[in-house]
Amino acid sequence: MNRYDQFYINGQWVSPLNGGSFNSYDPSDESLIATVASGSAEDVDVAVKAARAAFDEGPWPRLSGAERGAFLRKIADGIRARQEELATLEVRDNGKPFPEAMWDIGDTAGCFDFYANLAEELDAQREKPVALADDRFSSLARREPIGVAGAIVPWNFPMLMASWKVAPALAAGCCIILKPAEQTSLTALELARIADEAGLPAGVLNIVTGPGSSVGAAITAHPGVDKLAFTGSVPVGSRIMQAAAQDIKNVTLELGGKSPFVIFADSDIEQAIEWIMFGIFWNKGEVCSATSRVLVERSAYEPLLARLAEETRKIRIGNGMEEGVLLGPLVNKNQYDGTLRAISRGLEEGARLVCGGERPAHLDKGFYLQPTVFADVPEDSWIWNEEIFGPVVCIRPFDTEEEAVKSANNSRFGLGAAVMSKDLERCERVARRFRAGIVWINCSQPTFTEAPWGGYKQSGIGRELGEWGLGNYLETKQITRYDSQQPWGWYIK
Ligand code: NAD
Repeated sequence: MNRYDQFYINGQWVSPLNGGSFNSYDPSDESLIATVASGSAEDVDVAVKAARAAFDEGPWPRLSGAERGAFLRKIADGIRARQEELATLEVRDNGKPFPEAMWDIGDTAGCFDFYANLAEELDAQREKPVALADDRFSSLARREPIGVAGAIVPWNFPMLMASWKVAPALAAGCCIILKPAEQTSLTALELARIADEAGLPAGVLNIVTGPGSSVGAAITAHPGVDKLAFTGSVPVGSRIMQAAAQDIKNVTLELGGKSPFVIFADSDIEQAIEWIMFGIFWNKGEVCSATSRVLVERSAYEPLLARLAEETRKIRIGNGMEEGVLLGPLVNKNQYDGTLRAISRGLEEGARLVCGGERPAHLDKGFYLQPTVFADVPEDSWIWNEEIFGPVVCIRPFDTEEEAVKSANNSRFGLGAAVMSKDLERCERVARRFRAGIVWINCSQPTFTEAPWGGYKQSGIGRELGEWGLGNYLETKQITRYDSQQPWGWYIK
C-alpha cells in the first residue's frame, strides 16, 4: 500500500513541518489502515503560498479552458484506471459496501469529465456583451477565476466530495488547497498522485491532511485564500462563515439536512419502499440529503410499515468487501455512539420501534448497527428534527396534502425533499411548495453532476455541481468603454 505520511504541496511530497501524524482505522474491525500526516498552521501557510504563487505567476489561470480541460480529462482517466483500487480504499476507510464505492469513484471520474467540458465551453462564454441604456458606452461582463480556493470536505463520500470542489475550481482556473476529513484522507492523497501523473503544474492542487481544528481552521483564516468551499456540519459551517467574515472571503457551504419524503396513498407501495430504503440505508444513512423523515398518507401507513420492516430485516450487514453486503459499519465510534444515542432518545420520546435499533448479534467487532425504522415519531421530538446521520428513518402518518407540506417544511434544514404519487399534477404542485434545494418526484436521492446541488435555510449557501458549481469559482468583471467622440464635459467645458 502507498504511504500516506506526507502532504502534496507545490507538486512535491513533503513531510509535516512538526512531524505530526494520526492513525486511520478500518471501521469494520477497528484495525489500523494507515498512518497519515497531520498538518499544522505552518504547513497550511506553505501550501497557501504555493497556491498563491501558482495563481499569481504560474501558467494555470492563463491557460485556455480547453488546455485546462485536457488536464481534467487526464485526471478522470487516471481515476477510472484505478477505480477498483480507489473503491477498495474507500471501503476500508469509510466502511461503505464495495458496489457503492465503485459507484462513487465512477461519479468522481465523471465529475472531472463534466468540468473538463465546462472548461472548454468557458472559452466561448468568458466575455458577454452587456446592453447599456446609454449608447455612448459599450460594456461587457467577463468571468475570471476567483483565485486561491480552500476546500474542506467530510468523510461520507471522501473522493466524490473532493471532486465536487476540486474539478470546478481547476476548470475555472483557480488553485486549490484541499483538506480531507481526518477519518478518510487516503483517496484525497491518491487524487494528488493522479493529478501529479497527469502533469498538473506545481502548486495548482495542494493537499494537507489533519484535524479540522488546526488544518481546517488555518485554511479558513489564511489571508492568502480568496474562497472557501465547505461541506460538513452546521456548527462547523457557521464557524467557517464567521472566520470568513474577518476578511470577507467568498464562501459556499453544503451542510446538513433532515430531508422529508411525502408518500401519497395512491403510490406504488413497493416502489415507495425501495426509494425509502435507497434514501436512508445507502451509504449507511451517512448522507447529507438522506431520506430521514417520511410522511405517509394514513390509509397506506400500516401496510407500508409492515412491508418496509420485512424488507429492512433482509438487508445483509457486514464488511463492505463481502459479496451481497448492503450495509457496512458506521464510519467510526463517534458516529456509532451518536446513532445509538439517537435511537435511545427516540424510544424515550415515545416513537414506535418497528425494526432494528441494535447492534447485529452476529458481528462482535466493528461499528455495525441494524437498519432502523421508527414510526409514530412525535413531530416535536429530537429524532424527528435533528440529523442522525446513520441508518435510522423516522415515519409519521398524515391526512391531507396541506398538512404533509407544512410538516415537511417545518424544519431548520432545507436540503432535499421528495414526493411520491401517481397523480403527477399533485407531485408537481407539492414539489414547488417544498422549501428545499433538491426535490425529487417519484424517487429519492439520485444525484446528477449536471444539476444544481445545495440547500435552503441552514442546509447551506450556494449550489455545487452543474454550471452553478463552476460559477462558485469565478468572479465577474465589468469592462466598460467610453465610445463617444464628444468630450465628457463635466469639469472641462
Ligand atoms: P464536520 O463538520 O465535523 O467536518 C467536516 C470537515 O470540516 C472535516 O474535514 C473536518 O476536519 C473539518 N473541520 C472540523 N472543524 C473545523 C474547523 N473548526 N475549521 C475548519 N474545518 C473544520 O462534519 P463531518 O462529521 O465530517 O460530516 C458530517 C456532516 O456533514 C453532516 O452534518 C452532514 O449533513 C454534512 N454533509 C453535508 C453534505 C452536503 O452536501 N450538504 C455532504 C456531506 C456531509
